[in-house]
Amino acid sequence: MTEKTLFQKIMDRELDGEILYEDDRCAVLRDINPQAPVHVLVVPRKPIPSLDDLTEQDEPLIGHLFTVARQAAANEGLTNGYRTVFNNGEDANQTVPHLHLHVLGGRRLGWPPG
Ligand code: 5GP
Repeated sequence: MTEKTLFQKIMDRELDGEILYEDDRCAVLRDINPQAPVHVLVVPRKPIPSLDDLTEQDEPLIGHLFTVARQAAANEGLTNGYRTVFNNGEDANQTVPHLHLHVLGGRRLGWPPG
């Protein structure tokens, strides 16, 4: 069996982490190093490493992640907008090889990202 990812260990309560929501397909974690007043991660239970590893079978799951992201943003009081981001691969500075959708908000966000 392959080693669990960091996010799997948090979802399985083997490592500490603030879990804001969970269902049978994903969880919402508060980012440990927030880049905005609100920074949460929507993480599928399935340890897909990156967008490059998606299959057609995963399409409903990706839609679900966005639905959960929208609900997480509402729960966090982000009534004036927010950003959703998948960092993918080295040039995007992806650091955890378990797909996750960042939800950032609570301040005016710059564009383009650095
Ligand atoms: P990436 O750079 O892969 O797009 O995003 C990984 C995110 O995971 C980063 O925003 C980073 O702060 C967050 N992160 C790294 N380690 C931990 C951890 O142990 N717990 C939580 N909750 N977030 C983490």
